[in-house]
Amino acid sequence: MNQESENRICQNCKKNFTIEPDDFRFYEKIKVPPPTFCPLCRAERRAVFRNERVLFKVENAFTGKDIFSLYPKEGENKSITEKEWFGDNFDATEYACDYDFSRSFFEQFFEFKKKVPVFSLRVEFMVDSPYSANATALKNSYLCFNSNNSENCMYSNAIDFSKDCLDDSHVSHSERCYESFWLQNCYQCYFTIMSVESRNLWFCRDCLGCNDCLGCINLRKSSYCIFNKQYTKEEYRKEIEKILFDMMIQFETGKKGTLYSVIEVFRNQSTNKIYEHPQKVIENFENNSQIVNILNSAMNNVDKENTIKKLLLSSSGINVASLKKILHDIQWHRDIVGNATSHHSMNDLYKKEFKQAIKDIKKLKLFIENT
Ligand SMILES: [Zn+2]
Repeated sequence: MNQESENRICQNCKKNFTIEPDDFRFYEKIKVPPPTFCPLCRAERRAVFRNERVLFKVENAFTGKDIFSLYPKEGENKSITEKEWFGDNFDATEYACDYDFSRSFFEQFFEFKKKVPVFSLRVEFMVDSPYSANATALKNSYLCFNSNNSENCMYSNAIDFSKDCLDDSHVSHSERCYESFWLQNCYQCYFTIMSVESRNLWFCRDCLGCNDCLGCINLRKSSYCIFNKQYTKEEYRKEIEKILFDMMIQFETGKKGTLYSVIEVFRNQSTNKIYEHPQKVIENFENNSQIVNILNSAMNNVDKENTIKKLLLSSSGINVASLKKILHDIQWHRDIVGNATSHHSMNDLYKKEFKQAIKDIKKLKLFIENT
């Protein structure tokens, strides 16, 4: 038995790694040889076994049609749809073969794995959620992974028994939460982590049984707090309106804002990205018949994107600066200015901004009509 730690070279990445005496004792106990891969390369190999959230377009092994699968073409796995996999025409025992004792187990197992068709997305009981995987019983959900029993959720991971949640991870029994992590029994919590049985929280962490708090940490059964300071309900409402409004403006116009990234896409004229963010911008151009024609054409998305970009950038006097302004105006109108009802309750501080936004919208209308 090795009583000292030993340095070895990883046969994969060729870097040094150490095996401690405790490790040697453990390997001896479970009767396996010491590793020849470093811990990081071993972790990588384990992770490779399960693909959580990358979808590949592959050929259906039964029909030859394109389908989405968790297994890339390069892996040589045979993907079939869930319906086919559970269906009566598929019997996995038909692929049975004899075990050859003269060859390595893993070699044969690997070959066998490639032969038997796999269940492409690993989903069950799904309703209108074709782009989710490793999931059960999702309804009207889009790009949700490792999730179960949820409805109207998007871009999320590990969402269970939840509704109307977006950009969340590890959230259960919650509703209307956004950009949050590790929530349980929460309602309308935004940018909040590790919180339970709470509602209307913004940027909070480790709060339990709380409601209407912003930027609070470690509170229990508290209401109307900002940075852990207690306010009355009325004071809280005024403070929060001011802070959130400022934050929204910063978010949309700031360097890290959604709007900024949209502009970046146009400016760099990089391909492929337009459908990630500017979809809603394009929707605002729906009065522009040229764009509508392109969107409705048979072109693929990349060609559509390039054609629209060229059109926008080349049409009368539209340079990047004016495009930037237009995009700003649209975003301003839609996300910041809100609708007529929300203006009534607007703080006096922002009435001026609102007037400016109205002017921007007029300019936008002019642009659309003249393009
Ligand atoms: Zn390594």
